[in-house]
Amino acid sequence: MRLLVLGSGAGGGVPQWNCRCPNCTRAREERDLPPSRKSFRHTQASIAIAERGERWLLVNASPDLCSQFADRAELAPPEGSLRGSPLAAVALTDGQIDHTTGLLFLREGGELTLVCTDPVWKSLGSTFPIVSILGHFLPVRRLAYPAELASLIVEALPLPAAPAPYDPPSNESGHVVALRITGKKSGRRVVYAPGLPGVSREFADFVAGCDALFVDGTFWSEEELAPMNPERQRSILRSHLPVSGPGGTLAWLSGLPIREKFYIHINNTNPILDPGSSPAKQVREAGVQIAYDGMLLRLYPSPS
Ligand SMILES: [Zn+2]
Repeated sequence: MRLLVLGSGAGGGVPQWNCRCPNCTRAREERDLPPSRKSFRHTQASIAIAERGERWLLVNASPDLCSQFADRAELAPPEGSLRGSPLAAVALTDGQIDHTTGLLFLREGGELTLVCTDPVWKSLGSTFPIVSILGHFLPVRRLAYPAELASLIVEALPLPAAPAPYDPPSNESGHVVALRITGKKSGRRVVYAPGLPGVSREFADFVAGCDALFVDGTFWSEEELAPMNPERQRSILRSHLPVSGPGGTLAWLSGLPIREKFYIHINNTNPILDPGSSPAKQVREAGVQIAYDGMLLRLYPSPS
């Protein structure tokens, strides 16, 4: 199984267009460096997974999708054909802008297979009508979880996070999910949770035994939310548990017997983006890695 990190930043990416914080300033200063040296730059989070051959499952479609595809040879149209794509389907963890807007840029394809929950499918056909718009360009086929495609099994765990800000308040489950993707041939298993409101017993069971785990790294601490109004702060904290502190994700991850642990969906305000910072050091010392754009993870078949 191969996993590509196409983007590792939270909504807005780094640099965020209207921000002059230290991380965004450093990212802007990297403008003319070769891609391998752009350590502060992070496009908006998205990963792609292939179990075998060249059929890729895209997990979330970021607004940066076009440049992310252009930068990866694996996602180029197959050799020998003028048009085409190794993209098999797109699976969504939620209906947020930074995870769905990229779908609009898939309109040139012949057909789109979208895997999502009922509330997200509803939202994308009404309050944020991306699928309705796409329907004018190509057929959109929807699959529910659990789904089986491209030699992968994709399962979802609903998380008690807030619906997208443009969705009406709702107690329906499934506005936000964590995904567990299992390779049918390799037996390898990845969990992807870019929006994690808390570490519940159900979530701990869901990740148990996985080979690689990608967890919400949006905020280091609640202090990063200080510039926002209280209502926005509450809504964001209902969706993203910070990394640090006794109840944070790092304390939990550090003791977790999973070989490959990563933070992804990292906000421009998060000090772990600076490799020289004390928070970044604490993350590394806890055995957790910080995902970066262009990262390739290979998971070889489990010995039988
Ligand atoms: Zn910034």
